[in-house]
Amino acid sequence: MKKVLVLAEVRDGQLRNVSLEALAAAQALAEGGEVVAAVFGADAAAHAQALGQHGASLVYTSDHSALAQYTADAYTQALTQIIELAGPDAVVLGHTAIGRDVAPRVAARLGYGLVSDVTGLEAGPVFVRPIYAGKAFQQRKFVDGKIFITIRPNNIAVGAADPAKTATVVPVELDIKDLRSIVKDVVRKTSGKVDLSEAKVIVSGGRGVKSAEGFKTLYELADVLGAAVGASRGACDADYCDYSMQIGQTGKVVTPDLYIACGISGAIQHLAGMSSSKVIVAINKDPEAPIFQVADYGIVGDLFEVVPLLTAEFKKVLV
Ligand code: FAD
Repeated sequence: MKKVLVLAEVRDGQLRNVSLEALAAAQALAEGGEVVAAVFGADAAAHAQALGQHGASLVYTSDHSALAQYTADAYTQALTQIIELAGPDAVVLGHTAIGRDVAPRVAARLGYGLVSDVTGLEAGPVFVRPIYAGKAFQQRKFVDGKIFITIRPNNIAVGAADPAKTATVVPVELDIKDLRSIVKDVVRKTSGKVDLSEAKVIVSGGRGVKSAEGFKTLYELADVLGAAVGASRGACDADYCDYSMQIGQTGKVVTPDLYIACGISGAIQHLAGMSSSKVIVAINKDPEAPIFQVADYGIVGDLFEVVPLLTAEFKKVLV
């Protein structure tokens, strides 16, 4: 019987889906023990109900002004204090920009272990995680001590909310000081209406898209599919799109149900960010392009002919 803490993330006033995945993982890890959560921000308490309905028995909240936007300093201090208060055996976070940054900092401070980028959980508990840029999966068992886990979005099944469940809300007075950085302004650069890292469907473009104008063809398909638009570094380097859209080793790691790669060669650094997608469709005019080695479905052809045909066909059934 273990106690497991989840650090939940809120974006644009919405609880992130990966935090619900983290709660599902926490319940499996707790093996019948207690699952608690922490959430920060002005509207933190508003999310306690959803966290309760997904398995948290207690939710620590803080509306401290230093936590309104993420900074490593403030979140490290806040999470450290919550852990000292709650005393969990394990802490689960999303493998997001925040989770990747804060988990190792706090784990090192408190002497916890860390298994990052977990994509599956088996009895034991055994943690499954991709290695060698997604070419293989490693199973890791943590034999002793307390532990941090970060969960890659879109990999753990989220159970239905149980309206009968509630969580006790515990507002916490945190002592956050000596901040070395403050956020003055947030300038958003987004790839579209759908958040790339949690999208179920991604239409992604590479250097083969040839221009920023060419990306409009991809946005039209994405609009019909309710998809996010991503890109290879080749496309970002060529200034066809913003780096916030980059997928790969030095970009975002995504695991959508469907990944449509258009004019992307399939370099190992790109595959590192998308090869765990459930279904991969590649459109490339070169039949020898390496992307076809990871694709479930390959279309050899000019993307400027193929993508509009797909858009038109999907429109008939989806719109
Ligand atoms: P290209 O390799 O130029 O491929 C373009 C493809 O488009 C070709 O296969 C071509 O046949 C096809 N094509 C052309 N015209 C058409 C058409 N009309 N219709 C259909 N197909 C067409 N890359 C990433 O993506 N993400 C990363 O995070 C990343 N990190 C890196 C980190 C390091 C340290 C290094 C060294 C490199 C990294 N790269 C990364 C770069 C990576 O090695 C490749 O250079 C990059 O992925 C290539 O992008 P691309 O596939 O769009 O371009």
